[in-house]
Amino acid sequence: MTLTNKTILITAAGQGIGAASALACAQAGAIVIATDVNADLLTNLDDVSGIETRVLDVTDADAISALATEIPDLDGLFNCAGIVHHGSVLELTEADWAFALDLNVTSMVRMCRAFVPGLLRRAHSEGSASILNMSSMASSEKGFINRTAYGATKAAVIGLTKAIAADFVAQNLRCNALCPGTVDTPALQGRIASAPDPVQAEKDFIARQPMGRLATVEDLTPTIVHLLSDDSRFITGQSVLVDGGCTI
Ligand code: NAD
Repeated sequence: MTLTNKTILITAAGQGIGAASALACAQAGAIVIATDVNADLLTNLDDVSGIETRVLDVTDADAISALATEIPDLDGLFNCAGIVHHGSVLELTEADWAFALDLNVTSMVRMCRAFVPGLLRRAHSEGSASILNMSSMASSEKGFINRTAYGATKAAVIGLTKAIAADFVAQNLRCNALCPGTVDTPALQGRIASAPDPVQAEKDFIARQPMGRLATVEDLTPTIVHLLSDDSRFITGQSVLVDGGCTI
């Protein structure tokens, strides 16, 4: 039970990678604060031992401050929320760009500003605390077609992660970024369903994975638990690829 006695807050935990992470962290012994903007999705976690749920929109700075007042001290923070904007720079409006930057990057700045003081208290009293920020292989790791806003904002997540890691490395607060490949989640299924030819779109997503299959959320959760636990105590400031060999 690598996360016993640790309190871990996860954003976007209503479905997909965030929900799987909440379940995996609870199974590893953590007290999980599972948050999401969608209250209905969170009800799926209501009866899970070790998980408490809270509605939280990561674009709402006041709501984040209120939650940090209610639950000030954390051992782990997993900033998972993010969205995909589909299109090249030619299809990217000012509003699209502002929204992608707000949800994919500024939300993490807000969360860290609110929760780093409590993470530092735990790092001081317990000897460690950990932040994990959701990036992607589509970032500074690799360019992909029609992922201008996504790739740029996920690259910014890596820069933010390294800066936070540098600021707090001497105080036992670590910060890493996770860079998954293509993961089978409700968001991905939505992208496939809304493509002009969904069958071809699914084939194309699988074709970009050299192992010939999409990642499952369970392909990611052991690494997520590891990076939030003390087992990864000498790892900080890293972008950790779990991409099935996409960036070889
Ligand atoms: P998903 O759509 O399956 O789940 C996303 C969750 O985010 C939903 O529960 C939704 O309600 C919540 N959410 C949306 N806006 C929010 C807000 N403002 N505040 C709080 N919660 C909000 O998505 P997923 O595929 O599991 O992706 C999760 C993260 O993983 C994203 O940051 C995504 O960029 C990243 N990622 C996904 C893949 C992939 O292939 N699925 C690959 C690499 C990285």
